[in-house]
Amino acid sequence: MFLRKSTRTLVRMTAAEPNYQSQITNSFDSHPAFCFPYGMELRKDPITRSWVITGDDVIEPTPRSGACRFCGPSAQPAQTVATLPGLEGGAWSARSVVHPHALYHIEGEPGRRGDGLYDRMGTVGAHEVLLENPRHDGHLWNASDAEVEQFLRLAAQRIQDLKRDSRMKYVSIFKNYGVGAGQEFEHPNSQLTATTFVPRRVLYELRAGRDYFDTKERCVFCDILAQEERQGLRMLETRGDYAAFCPYAPRVPYESWILPRSHESSFERTGSSRVGSVADLASLLRRTLQRIRTVTESFHLVLHTSPNSQHLSSALGYWKTLDEDYHWHIEILPIVDAKAKSYTFKEVYYSPVTSETAVKRLREAKV
Ligand SMILES: [Zn+2]
Ligand SMILES: [Zn+2]
Ligand SMILES: [Zn+2]
Repeated sequence: MFLRKSTRTLVRMTAAEPNYQSQITNSFDSHPAFCFPYGMELRKDPITRSWVITGDDVIEPTPRSGACRFCGPSAQPAQTVATLPGLEGGAWSARSVVHPHALYHIEGEPGRRGDGLYDRMGTVGAHEVLLENPRHDGHLWNASDAEVEQFLRLAAQRIQDLKRDSRMKYVSIFKNYGVGAGQEFEHPNSQLTATTFVPRRVLYELRAGRDYFDTKERCVFCDILAQEERQGLRMLETRGDYAAFCPYAPRVPYESWILPRSHESSFERTGSSRVGSVADLASLLRRTLQRIRTVTESFHLVLHTSPNSQHLSSALGYWKTLDEDYHWHIEILPIVDAKAKSYTFKEVYYSPVTSETAVKRLREAKV
């Protein structure tokens, strides 16, 4: 029984992960003293299958000072990755630079190897700071729609570019704003990481999307949005082909999602696919953040888009329905002063405000 099960597992994993054979070989002669460059490494939890970054080379937090490293007289030169041209004569409108203390580095191979039953690999990937606006006070909620649109276009371009690299399995874009959210730089920014694995939450969503599609042959996100629009209990606003709503089972009070109303798996196709205009998305993002800011200063924002499926030899090559079963979206997780257990007791999320109540307050906000 045990043998049969283990053989089956091996076959299944070989199909899903082409490099599995070499990992097995490595696992028998793995070198415990092996060290990856940069001091940090990725380790996989064999139970939940999620990757963590660990290492004893603790990164010093960027000291907070009055001077901005990205603009003004005290600006420090940063390694620019991409720049979008300025609006109305400015030098630039949105810009991507290498993170000054990057968690992931573009050079080399991940060097994935076994360590007995465990898996580890180097921190190969990319870590960029996306400067949303040349102005130090040009935030997504007070910038013009045209400026927010430039930022969204930059984000799409960076994802597209990094997905051409077959080592990169996923590109994350996120924003931490406010002290409570662990904001790193004063200048209006989001961050990007490209990783050789798909982060855990996205993997859950991808698997759930595929399972739903398997039985219903419909996209679960499209179905959720259709029901939300029909019921109108948790809808925040729609603008053109984009909608914002508070999810039925929020992880934190005032959690809000933005997604296209026409099905689309990949954010980076925004602006080039049939899905509506980026200007509508920019406007909806700006207005939703304005609403959130009437409740709290601090928030996390994350973009969930499809993983890198351009390279068929990768682990996702067998995933035939990915474009139909996944649907990109932005999640905004406000940080409100609620009872401490909502943030410390994460085994079960606890949200002391229902989405039906939250949406009323957010709808009333003056934007
Ligand atoms: Zn600045
Ligand atoms: Zn959909
Ligand atoms: Zn998501």
